[in-house]
Amino acid sequence: MLKVLKFGGTSVGTLERIQNVAKIIKNIRDDGHDIIAVVSAMSGETNKLIEYANTFSSNPSNKEMDMLLSSGERVTSALLSIALNEDGYKTTSMSGREVGIFTTNEHTNARIESIDTSNMQESIAQGNIIIVAGFQGVSVNTSRVTTLGRGGSDLSAVAIAGAIAADICEIYTDVDGIYTTDPRIEPKAKKMDKISYDEMLELASLGAKVLQNRSVEMAKKLNVNLVSRSSFTPEVEGTLITKEENIMEAPIVSGIALDKNQIRVGLYKVSDKPGIAASIFQTLANSNINVDMIVQTIAVDGKADLDFTISTGDLEKTQKAMETFKDDVEKIDYNEAVCKVSIVGVGMKSHTGVASKAFLAMANENINIRIISTSEIKISMIIDEKYAELAVRSLHDVYELDK
Ligand code: ADP
Ligand code: ASP
Ligand code: MG
Repeated sequence: MLKVLKFGGTSVGTLERIQNVAKIIKNIRDDGHDIIAVVSAMSGETNKLIEYANTFSSNPSNKEMDMLLSSGERVTSALLSIALNEDGYKTTSMSGREVGIFTTNEHTNARIESIDTSNMQESIAQGNIIIVAGFQGVSVNTSRVTTLGRGGSDLSAVAIAGAIAADICEIYTDVDGIYTTDPRIEPKAKKMDKISYDEMLELASLGAKVLQNRSVEMAKKLNVNLVSRSSFTPEVEGTLITKEENIMEAPIVSGIALDKNQIRVGLYKVSDKPGIAASIFQTLANSNINVDMIVQTIAVDGKADLDFTISTGDLEKTQKAMETFKDDVEKIDYNEAVCKVSIVGVGMKSHTGVASKAFLAMANENINIRIISTSEIKISMIIDEKYAELAVRSLHDVYELDK
């Protein structure tokens, strides 16, 4: 079999852990498999590099940031390759460029356009284990190094697995699979054997960082056999992320996600005239700001309040963009002390009463819901951040996800 394995930041967080990863790879190799291993930077490394840059500039060039951030993954790929080599295994490390990952030019958040697998194929044919520096590619237009957004090594692994038609893509992390919610918040969370691509995509997009959302999207598109498992307990089978039809009996609610990276923007007494919302959201879109949930209150005396949420990283850009409207509103405020809790499940499509249960759970804990939004398979609520963990646990309870 050809296996793509990915080892996250914690799994390669120390030199001993890199040695532990080498051991996992050796075992799989000894079983006769071909291996492409994708690695993250050592945990904390990417954040440290961002902090370094911010000591010189609050707005460093994205092009330089990519040069800087891509270095973290190169360190671990080389170290892991050296460790395996020392034990007599034939290996080669490769940067994103050597792997042949071609991307758009959107530095720090580039999209993969194509992968030229010839280099990898040749190297595997020569008997090498390939160790890939994750999270990076090279711009088709400029040949500069690019990165794929935070958590992007997951995407490197899935994209490579899809492009080279690997038999399986195993994402090794510090938990042994996908749980009904973050097991660090709710110790009663249950591990799932299988979860559908769509549900995993929602959970990941709504804050469950166990898999990067773009990697799940890619896995679905390319039909990659994706498994989430632990490098600390590699003997334990993980969770398979697969097509909905491969799951016999999906529960109504599969999981709860939490996202603390949220800011609620309140525009008070906006003139209630046609075109104002359009122009506000057009301005935000022009500044590349992703708006998530939106509510408008019923107008009184020709004025209405407008609330929406953005992610924490977009605060400064949003403040700047909203300057244009300061004469059209009475007040604008930014509340960072909020979070989003979400309930995800494909079964919601065909069952009623799911939402009311969630609202009741919040009411029982005296938690005020500030914004609600729903789609076919999810319900999201914005609440005060101080209730984040309590909300997750009570939702986990009402849907009996520990059963
Ligand atoms: P890595 O460094 O390996 O990429 P991450 O820190 O990005 O790992 O993701 C793993 C973490 O995701 C876990 O430690 C866990 O706290 C968190 N997590 C959030 N939601 C879930 C979930 N539903 N199931 C499992 N882990 C989750
Ligand atoms: N090192 C990068 C990050 O911290 C990419 C990754 O770990 O997947 O976001
Ligand atoms: Mg990750």
